[in-house]
Amino acid sequence: MKVFKFGGASVKDAEGVRNVARVLGRFPDDDLVVVVSAMGKTTNALEEIVRAHQEGRPVRELVGALRGAHAATLEAVAPLDHDTANRLSASFAELEKHAERPAAWPYDQDYDHIVSHGELWSTLIVAAHLNQAGLPTQWLDAREVVVTDALHRAARVDWERSAARTGVLHKALQRQKPARLLTQGFIARSIDGKATTLGREGSDFSAAILAWLLDAESVTIWKDVAGMFNADPKRFPDTQLLPHISYREAIELSYFGASVIHPRTLQPLQQKKIPLYVRSFLDPSAPGTTIDTAGEADTAVPSFIVKPRQLLISITPRDLSFVVEENLHHIFGLFARAGIRIDLMQNSALAFSVVTDDVPRAHALIEELRRDYQVRYNQDCELLTVRHFDEPTLQRLLRGRTPLVEQRSRNTARFVLR
Ligand code: ASP
Ligand code: MG
Repeated sequence: MKVFKFGGASVKDAEGVRNVARVLGRFPDDDLVVVVSAMGKTTNALEEIVRAHQEGRPVRELVGALRGAHAATLEAVAPLDHDTANRLSASFAELEKHAERPAAWPYDQDYDHIVSHGELWSTLIVAAHLNQAGLPTQWLDAREVVVTDALHRAARVDWERSAARTGVLHKALQRQKPARLLTQGFIARSIDGKATTLGREGSDFSAAILAWLLDAESVTIWKDVAGMFNADPKRFPDTQLLPHISYREAIELSYFGASVIHPRTLQPLQQKKIPLYVRSFLDPSAPGTTIDTAGEADTAVPSFIVKPRQLLISITPRDLSFVVEENLHHIFGLFARAGIRIDLMQNSALAFSVVTDDVPRAHALIEELRRDYQVRYNQDCELLTVRHFDEPTLQRLLRGRTPLVEQRSRNTARFVLR
């Protein structure tokens, strides 16, 4: 059993859907579970519908635009599939009815209900196409299997309850040989039966959840890039593909901001030693990146990650007392309460510095901090992280720039740059 995941970019239009069929056609004899995201920018458009619904603005045109685009794509890739056309239409009708009634639920619950439609539509369309393209496919509602808590928009998986639902997966998989099961990423259901979502870009994580439940032999994330690179190829010249890295290294890279895979994806895979492949749906014969337990090649090339739009905050006690446990405790408490993620921190005798990209919340917190501390900040900084650095790489990346903060450990060098 292999798990494949196709993101929104891979199914953004009719040609994308046809290409998914071409990629799957290369695996005619494999048992496959295929996880698909919402088409293109559908999730963003649905988020706009949530805002309008919550603010009591009309939604008719917004829903109508999505309906038109999805219906046209279905018509292009699976003409005459009246059954799917009816199911798609019923789903839009349900959404219209919901969105035309005044919002009755809290924002995040309403969000999950509305936004989860995107994945349902895309999977209906892709399944319809595969069935017409000679790749018989079963469609499954992922909410039948993936159970979470009720923390809407960032739901946490209930592994035990989900595992208890694995029978649903197995049953669907047994309906044909070889099995080809298509389902949604990103969406799930809470214990009390409400729609939940796993956080933006959560479909990678869904693929890992299903692989974990099924003890799959591997997960492949099909992307518009050829794998994981040692830097963002859209930003730096001469980047190198990382052909083989360990889970640990991949977790570190995504923690520092490499955006190729959703950070939570790796933990369940690592737990069951299920390898993860990152490959290109535009060039499916290329080998891509393998992520598994072998770490010998981790240190072979320096990797570097740049996070833009960082806010560097320096906090000094007003009475110039040293920054020690007590005020650190107080400062951390304020950050934790505000829910601000700290990307880097450093302290000296009189100042504690923090870097974050959670800018609006941080500005609110600065006001609060100013009651007890002198606070200075620098906006629009870059946070550069270099894994497995060597001096020539650092010199090249830092040429002509003076870091505001600099930190080095054995494997990782980090710089805050203006
Ligand atoms: N459609 C969702 C999003 O755009 C989930 C995903 O793409 O992974 O965030
Ligand atoms: Mg998406």
